[in-house]
Amino acid sequence: MVTVRFAPSPTGYLHLGSARTALFNWLYARHMEGRFLLRVEDTDQVRSDVRFLEEILYDLRWLGLDWDSEPIYQSRRFPLYRQKAEELLAGGKAYREGEAILFRVEKGRAVEYDDFIHGRIAVRTDDIKDQVLIKSDGSPSYNFACVIDDAELGITHILRGDDHISNTPKQILFYEAFRLVPPRFGHMPLILGPDGAKLSKRHGGVSVEEYRNEGYLPGALVNHLILLGWYPGEEHEVMTLEEAVGMFDIAQMGDVQAKFDLQKLRWLNASHIMKRTSAELLPLIKSHLTAGGVPLSGVSDEFLLRLIDLYKIRLKTLRDFVEMTDCFFRDDFAVDEEGKKKYLAKPENIENIRLLAVRLEALASFAPAEIEAACRQLAEERGLKAAGLIHPARLAISGKTSGAGLFEMMELLGKEKVLRRLRGVAP
Ligand code: GLU
Repeated sequence: MVTVRFAPSPTGYLHLGSARTALFNWLYARHMEGRFLLRVEDTDQVRSDVRFLEEILYDLRWLGLDWDSEPIYQSRRFPLYRQKAEELLAGGKAYREGEAILFRVEKGRAVEYDDFIHGRIAVRTDDIKDQVLIKSDGSPSYNFACVIDDAELGITHILRGDDHISNTPKQILFYEAFRLVPPRFGHMPLILGPDGAKLSKRHGGVSVEEYRNEGYLPGALVNHLILLGWYPGEEHEVMTLEEAVGMFDIAQMGDVQAKFDLQKLRWLNASHIMKRTSAELLPLIKSHLTAGGVPLSGVSDEFLLRLIDLYKIRLKTLRDFVEMTDCFFRDDFAVDEEGKKKYLAKPENIENIRLLAVRLEALASFAPAEIEAACRQLAEERGLKAAGLIHPARLAISGKTSGAGLFEMMELLGKEKVLRRLRGVAP
């Protein structure tokens, strides 16, 4: 059975590169109906912190990944690593150097393997120095603990970043020393920014948490991470995790340019937002409103759902909603100064708005169709195109030059607020 693992070191937040590693191992396991295990590489007792581990696990769940057994912790397995190192000592394959135990690398041969992303890789052992198994402080080296655990867990495939490519031949030597068949390895190219430089904060953020806080849906982030390791073709570019599980083909992981592109992510996010119902978005939108300082007491879910219906199509991130809809939650909403100059400086515009307030006040029903009819009629009487009235009116009631349809906005704001705001600019 295909058995893979994700082996985070809990020394920091979940980086996009690690999230992609976890994702592809998970995808492969789920596609093959295999197992996906978690191993916590917490051998560095100084830098490891349970707080980081909790955040990593939270982020994995948020992305939609699950694992098939309780995580194992390397920090609890030091006696096993020592015992295994002593086996190699006894067999003459390792030696002591002070408190440390080192593996003797036999020179004059090659270590070869077929990487399922890079193809055949061969490294001369002359270029590999003797390897630390157990450090003088008693902790195991990464390479040694990794092999002992991967072997014990029955790991069949290892997908990880190119930063580990130089570790793999060393690990293969350990498998050989224990007369074990190594797993298959695949190394994914490191994630770069669109400019070809190593992914960094200036490309939009490096941790999963940053994207969650910005208002990206997990499905959209996962979608972009998938495209940084596997390209299923243009017609399948937008996909859910479940769809990816069905279509995934490890053999197609060959030549993908792992370039992270914030614009692409925004576009994907908009697509994933559109696929969600407003009810599904409601709790997420609420938490962004709350984080944005919008008080929600007294605001009904029904009202929020209608607002989401109206703005969903315009969102690139969930956080956009907070800014776009501020006029629905406060009277001191942000005003676009350029728009104000453009639409509210001319006396005739002010006069039009004053007249619009009179017309709207007379309406018996404040539904979009009636509001629209009143606007169009007034525009016609004043010899204006509807837009000549709509833009100044939108600015007056929302402070913005764009947004949802004016008539729907007015309905949701309610007659009283609309009249008050129109009269605020055209007394
Ligand atoms: N703890 C290692 C890392 O986070 C795991 C590498 C591996 O998958 O073997 O990079």
